[in-house]
Amino acid sequence: MNLDRYAVIGNPVAHSLSPQIHEEFARQTNQQLKYSRIEAPHDGFESIARDFLRKGGCGLSVTAPFKGEAFRWVDKSDEFARESGAVNAISRSGDSTEGFNTDGIGLLQDFVRLGWKITGRRVLVLGAGGAVRGIIGPLIAQGSVLTVANRTEKRLVELKAQFPDISTMPLAEVPGDWDMVINATSAHLRSTELNVDPHIFSDARCYDLAYSCDRTTKFVDKARRHGATDAQDGLGMLVFQAACAFGLWRGVDPDPIRVLEGLRES
Ligand code: NAP
Repeated sequence: MNLDRYAVIGNPVAHSLSPQIHEEFARQTNQQLKYSRIEAPHDGFESIARDFLRKGGCGLSVTAPFKGEAFRWVDKSDEFARESGAVNAISRSGDSTEGFNTDGIGLLQDFVRLGWKITGRRVLVLGAGGAVRGIIGPLIAQGSVLTVANRTEKRLVELKAQFPDISTMPLAEVPGDWDMVINATSAHLRSTELNVDPHIFSDARCYDLAYSCDRTTKFVDKARRHGATDAQDGLGMLVFQAACAFGLWRGVDPDPIRVLEGLRES
């Protein structure tokens, strides 16, 4: 039988749990599909994505560092992708591609699951890449007061031009006293250190977009050691944003909580 084919494209991508998640969604909803991983070279996103879809692929999940490039490449995109300039899910219809950004929805749904309120809260976001552009609009729409800190200045300047309501500062100069700290850097993917003043964690709820099935990441560990009131990894966000993409691709809604619990147990 010819199965509908999907894949996650990124670099690196070996760590991605997306194949497991989407195959579980497919089992839950009786959908026949195959989902794989594609590691594209840094200058190879466009040709590899085009090739996969031209050979019959139905859709792609897009992960770091290709979300901005994916937005520029697709034929059309939804409002979240346009607002963020970043695409994390692509669907193909005939010869045409459409890009979506489900990262913000995924994060907000995980905050609801955790019972974390963000309206009126002072939220520090670390990093200024594709994931951050996807979550800023939804966080502002929920009434959080956002500061974004990044290692290099260029991305902060671009972000501030796009979202004038945020404050920005260099990562090395971030002071303490936050209600929430969100790590959206890819430091762990590059096996590099995230150098931040540990005071930022004190009495804050801390959320790492990076994830691991056993609930701990370097950032989560560090936050717990330095006085965070709670610290969580991003597995919930991953599952919720994937459920949203799966719904867009297949027209059926899977049960993300069941999949999240399964991943934690596995
Ligand atoms: P990206 O576009 O490549 O951006 C990476 C960001 O991380 C940049 O701001 C970069 O700063 C910063 N960075 C990298 N290494 C650093 C270090 N050692 N110290 C300080 N900053 C560092 O990546 P992305 O797409 O935004 O993804 C970011 C992370 O979010 C990834 O880990 C990804 O897996 C995760 N993510 C998770 C979910 C989920 O569902 N849980 C969804 C989306 C993304 P410079 O500008 O200075 O280089």
